[in-house]
Amino acid sequence: FVAGLEYLKNEPCETLDQQHFCLQVNTGLMTDVYRSLDQGAEGVGLYRTEVSFMMRDRFPSESEQAEIYRQQLQAFAPNNVCMRTLDIGGDKSLSYFPIQEENPFLGWRGVRVTLDHPEIFIVQVRAMIRASEGFDNLSILIPMVSSIGELEEAMHLIYRAMHELQEEGYQVVMPRIGMMIEIPANVYQIRDIAARVDFISVGSNDLTQYLLAVDRTNPRVASLYNNYHPAVLMALQQIYQEASACNCPVSICGELAGDPIGVILLAAMGFRSLSMSPTSLLRVKALLRQIDTEWARDLLNTILQMDNPLVIRSTLEFAMKKAG
Ligand code: PEP
Ligand code: MG
Repeated sequence: FVAGLEYLKNEPCETLDQQHFCLQVNTGLMTDVYRSLDQGAEGVGLYRTEVSFMMRDRFPSESEQAEIYRQQLQAFAPNNVCMRTLDIGGDKSLSYFPIQEENPFLGWRGVRVTLDHPEIFIVQVRAMIRASEGFDNLSILIPMVSSIGELEEAMHLIYRAMHELQEEGYQVVMPRIGMMIEIPANVYQIRDIAARVDFISVGSNDLTQYLLAVDRTNPRVASLYNNYHPAVLMALQQIYQEASACNCPVSICGELAGDPIGVILLAAMGFRSLSMSPTSLLRVKALLRQIDTEWARDLLNTILQMDNPLVIRSTLEFAMKKAG
């Protein structure tokens, strides 16, 4: 628990002007699950499946995966659990599936790997769907998609897995399918994406990295990695507006959703569904219950007139202090 905030666990997350927010958590291990339930999370906005793959010395079998996934689904039922298909490559590697590349963040990552290895993808999706039998609270999220063709191919494999399982007699319902918005190209194709998926989830960590061309793991350029850069804020605003215009549910699961200043800017843009690390949840709830979204919109409008990321950051910090 965050000291002093326990009382908020079962309180609604509503701003002073009665805007309701859905706060979910990002999980990887079962310890995150136990911690999240303690905080009153309304489900899982991002379950990073690669974490349990990284702790093994071989690919887990379909049944082993199904057991791992069932624990997540059961813990949060009837709330939704959004499971992301394997997102390896970049900075996340498996000892038993080494990837050596000059430029890993621009290389073989996320769905690029699993579309080249449909046997890995199909086994994982089958395990997720099997695990959801009787709970019906599963969503599947596809990472690192750079084209509609990849999205359609991945969706096709999910339909195929679903069909196979139904043929085999499993009593399962079709999961909702979503796509991570984390590559700049995605920002310009929200309408095409929204026409195909049930929801989108913004990965602001990678979106910032790729928009600014700053390796998110490289300390030498860490000062250039800035979620409040005007280009990042404009991209986020555009994503929200385009998705809402298509009635496509949109949430955000990057670190920005657990960052106090980020939360205010996201609230101002219209985001109402935020997924974050379990330790941030009660702090974010406390903050949202003290603000008015009109005030947040004024602040965002002021910021969007500025072009210097450092001035933006200090203006935001000053506004937060002034607001107490
Ligand atoms: C992101 O990119 O913002 C994200 C949530 O995914 P990950 O941090 O696992 O790449
Ligand atoms: Mg990402």
